Amino acid sequence: MNSQDSLPNKIINAIQAVAGKEPLGLHEPTFDGNERRYLNECIDTTFVSSVGKFVDKFEADLAEYTGAKYAVAVVNGTSALHISFLLAGVKNDDEVLVPTLTFVATTNAVTYCGAFPHFVDSDEKTLGIDTYKLKQHLLRNTKQKNGLCINKLTGRTIRAIVAVHVFGHPCDINGLLSIAEEFNIMILEDAAESLGSTYNGKHTGTFGFTGALSFNGNKIITCGGGGAILTSDDSVARRAKHITTTAKVPHAWEFIHDEVGYNYRLPNLNAALGCAQMEQLPSKLRAKRNLYARYKSEFSTLTGVSLLAETEKSKSNYWLNTIVLDRDQMHHRNAVLEATNNAGLMTRPVWKLMHELPAFSNCQRMNLETATQLSRRLINIPSSSNIL
Ligand SMILES: *Cc1c(COP(=O)(O)O)cnc(C)c1O
Repeated sequence: MNSQDSLPNKIINAIQAVAGKEPLGLHEPTFDGNERRYLNECIDTTFVSSVGKFVDKFEADLAEYTGAKYAVAVVNGTSALHISFLLAGVKNDDEVLVPTLTFVATTNAVTYCGAFPHFVDSDEKTLGIDTYKLKQHLLRNTKQKNGLCINKLTGRTIRAIVAVHVFGHPCDINGLLSIAEEFNIMILEDAAESLGSTYNGKHTGTFGFTGALSFNGNKIITCGGGGAILTSDDSVARRAKHITTTAKVPHAWEFIHDEVGYNYRLPNLNAALGCAQMEQLPSKLRAKRNLYARYKSEFSTLTGVSLLAETEKSKSNYWLNTIVLDRDQMHHRNAVLEATNNAGLMTRPVWKLMHELPAFSNCQRMNLETATQLSRRLINIPSSSNIL
């Protein structure tokens, strides 16, 4: 095979046909709106820290956009997950079902509550939890006792399932909701990557008990750092606000904290950036959909590789475009990563699977064959919304 025709070269040519020959990052933030104005307003008014009008506005904007009744802004997506688990009642010695194909924050947040992650396999089409396999696993390995789902091997309560919408692609939410119902397990959503993505026309992060968002610098919009907890339950929203703001009881001058709280509040400065970014979310989503369509037309002519697409019920935000090597091509993965990065195109493999990380290698898991294969087949390609 002539090296021009090698898979790595064909992939470089396809990316460059869309995005040009200049070096490209994987996902760069863009600030084309009111960012400077709102940040200056924080400085001019001295409201840079833990209270201020942008925090309230950012929460209202998020709730309105997602259709969640409430959004509680917090300092990052990891803390949004941590508080979500706490509010769901995840505690010492519980188990939480987590896809092995996710970012480490999902799994870390489970352990912050003293609970054990229990790893599940992923689906090739959505990259989310394989609900068929999960159901079989639960039928074989759990029993019901006092309305709880008990792991027959460990004796622990399986309290929750984390639905992660990987790279912005909604997972099989209906499948998970019916498992939740059948086995008495709560669904919590890690929607850190899926702001703007919907399932059956409803925003991701609004199906479960809570939905966690992230506004880290690499996400579709950014606050610098930030996160939010979505919920439709008044009391959950109130408690989320309370324990993320040191559990302080409102009082004109006294410092009374009525339980152990966390300092997880989002500073007004970060919220100001978030408000300006929210104004640009629709245009960023259009740009991403357009970039996906152009990549699709290039990659559809290649053999050995395909571009991950949204599924029937879903609308993806296409946060990170993802190519999938055919099974018989996966031995080329490192060559593709090396050649594209050498050509100035930032590409990345998927995260190391959770059950392969030292901190989690002893956790229980089902057969993880699909995720294991996917981890050798997936490559993220440059996806910034400013690629013209
Ligand atoms: C980014 C991300 C998080 C964590 O968000 P931070 O704001 O970085 O703490 C959690 N889960 C997933 C899937 C993410 O991509």
